[in-house]
Amino acid sequence: MEDLIKRAAGDLVKAGYAIALTGAGISTESGIPDFRGPSGIWTRDPEAEKRAYQVYARFQKNPKEYWMDRLTRPSLLGNLGKMAPNPGHYALAELESIGILKWVITQNVDSLHQRAGSRKVLDYHGNAFKLRCFSCGARFESGEFDLPRLLSEDRLPPLCTSCGGVLKSDVVHFHEPIPVDVAEQSLEEAARCDLMLICGTSAVVYPFARLPHVARERSLGENSIIIEINAEPTPLTERMISDYLIQGKTGQILPLIVEEVKRLLSC
Ligand code: NAD
Repeated sequence: MEDLIKRAAGDLVKAGYAIALTGAGISTESGIPDFRGPSGIWTRDPEAEKRAYQVYARFQKNPKEYWMDRLTRPSLLGNLGKMAPNPGHYALAELESIGILKWVITQNVDSLHQRAGSRKVLDYHGNAFKLRCFSCGARFESGEFDLPRLLSEDRLPPLCTSCGGVLKSDVVHFHEPIPVDVAEQSLEEAARCDLMLICGTSAVVYPFARLPHVARERSLGENSIIIEINAEPTPLTERMISDYLIQGKTGQILPLIVEEVKRLLSC
């Protein structure tokens, strides 16, 4: 493990354009469950996964009912507003402030990267604290709308203040296309990077899981690196898309890598 941490730090220091991809695993140490880890939400309750596949169709059919459901049922992920970033999030923010990490592309909807200080974050699956217009794609902070009041006054769904279209949560549901702006920029970053640091994702949800393959294809014949930090091996490990796996918790491993990066930079 110690050797791999030194290797990752050395690779990061040498990289010209490093990016990170993150998944639910980086937030489990903040108390937010993942979906497919050993005590993940789907692992414990497969019926919840089946229900999640219906949400987008329900929105398209009846946005009012979708919103009534959202505002009256507890979220599967818990009260995200009360969760705090953990050392893994802070370590990635520090790598950005040092100038090594150019972007974090996250599947997480919890905003913990931003709250840890990362400024260049692409929310690939949206952000639970935002709303997005289904017609024009405009995004709004959810605090701009008094959703409980709209519920109590029977005025749901909220409407876009730019075009009057129907608003949904910015969170991308199963079967919903990834918003074009984020999808395109993520592909560009994956094709451009010479180091990809993949943290806490089972790498089975597509199209996000395609991004490491894009980096691998781009890197063929070139000297670029894909590193995984995950509690368990993934399809990326097994198919040798990643160069190496540092197996363990992101909240423990990432800070050690940053310490080593700083030591190397001070030499
Ligand atoms: P996943 O649940 O499919 O996989 C998580 C992976 O992280 C597993 O391989 C697990 O073993 C590993 N892991 C768990 N804790 C870890 C830790 N402390 N350190 C290192 N590895 C750890 O998650 P996914 O691949 O991100 O896909 C799930 C989808 O669900 C995503 O699209 C995401 O949008 C959504 N989701 C988001 C959140 C969140 O915003 N925090 C939480 C759950 C699910």
